[in-house]
Amino acid sequence: MHTSTLLPEEKKRNSVSAVGCHRGSKVCTETSNISTLRTNVMTPKCCVDNLSTLMVEAAAFFHKHELHCWLDWGSLLGVVREGKLLAWDRDVDFGFHAHAENAILEAFANDGRPHRANNGDIGFVLETGLFYVPNWGEDYAGNRASIPRIYFSETNRLYADMYPYYRTEKGFGMGRIGPSTYDIEGKHILSLRVVNWKGHVIYVPSEPEEYLAKRYGEDWMVPDPDFYQKYPPGSAELMGKINQL
Ligand SMILES: [Zn+2]
Repeated sequence: MHTSTLLPEEKKRNSVSAVGCHRGSKVCTETSNISTLRTNVMTPKCCVDNLSTLMVEAAAFFHKHELHCWLDWGSLLGVVREGKLLAWDRDVDFGFHAHAENAILEAFANDGRPHRANNGDIGFVLETGLFYVPNWGEDYAGNRASIPRIYFSETNRLYADMYPYYRTEKGFGMGRIGPSTYDIEGKHILSLRVVNWKGHVIYVPSEPEEYLAKRYGEDWMVPDPDFYQKYPPGSAELMGKINQL
């Protein structure tokens, strides 16, 4: 009959993302497809919802243990500007002071059960299912990170990157991730602000609007899914756009 002329809604129902990924499944293939990373391709709703759950569960854990990990980068941009994670984002970002790294590990070791995943990742699993891997954890695309990560679960490798900040000559910089980053002033992260997001306590930089203007440029309030197409990480275009120290 007319099987080749499905309405958009019907096509959506037939796709994997309409079924949706969950804690016990792998991440949707649309999300793990790195060829569309940092493009204007929207992330399946299930993945964004799961990232939001991951964000609040991690924030609750930080709050419980008085770990001052702050929301950073695209997650901060989404929550401050739109009251939710960006529809095209594929991870969550937190920052922390590098000297707190052992306290973070100890907190997960205290609350979680030790776990070794089939791919060799070793860490701790909380009752929620969150899986903390202190180093070299593998993401849904098979890439390993030189920083700590919190995964949605051992199976569903949606993740929150945990960026360690170190003192530099100018202020603070994110270590262990190579040259494609730039320093910020200490005032943004030496004291933090608490925001209440849908009933959850989340730490953010002390002046989030000013901070976001430094990270993304003065027009950070204008949504732009093509941002990293126009301003690739580490590029001269990006360095010209932002107010680097
Ligand atoms: Zn999904």
